[in-house]
Amino acid sequence: MARLIAIDGLDGSGKGTQSQKLYDYLAGQGKAVRLLSFPTYKEPASSLVNFYLSGGLGGLPEDTCAEAASTFFACDRYVSYRTDWKKDADRDGIIIANRYTTANAVHQLSKLPKEKWESFLDWLFDLEFVRLGLPAPDDVVYLEVPVSVSLSLIDKRGNKKDIHEKDVSFLENSYEAAQFCAKKLGWKKISCVKNGTLRSIDEIFEDIKRELSL
Ligand code: ADP
Repeated sequence: MARLIAIDGLDGSGKGTQSQKLYDYLAGQGKAVRLLSFPTYKEPASSLVNFYLSGGLGGLPEDTCAEAASTFFACDRYVSYRTDWKKDADRDGIIIANRYTTANAVHQLSKLPKEKWESFLDWLFDLEFVRLGLPAPDDVVYLEVPVSVSLSLIDKRGNKKDIHEKDVSFLENSYEAAQFCAKKLGWKKISCVKNGTLRSIDEIFEDIKRELSL
């Protein structure tokens, strides 16, 4: 069975950058490694995700309940798993996922009052890992950046913003939700900002390797 490493964090926290770096590092060592990224934006299975993120169900994240939105993202992962990477998950190697079920935890939890957070996580993990049969990650790396830094990195990336990225209070709630999940679920938290300054890509990567014992 492959080792599944999920990399998560707020929008713009460096997930894409660090996932690619980790892939290059492991591939450079000759390891059997796959790099996945969710949602699969360009695949048909993500059509409901795209519809939701582009505002088709309303311009605010809360216009769509946490359970419905989670299901869109979960089905995207299910189709991708069944049609693409199950064979890799079933054999030895390393799979790196830029976002995974963890992203539903962070972003959808933030729509709910705190007293519902634990029961939502129970529901979500039952849905994805038990009923849909997706593999649970062996390691979750959480790239922690404050919301202000997330916002400036989203701008730096320059893509058109989706309904999550446009909504500052949603990002603030997501930050709190991510902190909660990291603590409760034992995610490997990497602080990407030190003394108010974003650390370098290489420094952050060294921490990731250390946390993953790579
Ligand atoms: P995410 O996948 O989490 O949305 P990205 O990896 O796309 O984030 O990074 C967002 C932007 O910030 C990109 O332009 C990327 O080059 C830049 N970036 C990522 N990490 C750092 C860092 N530690 N220092 C400076 N810029 C960074």
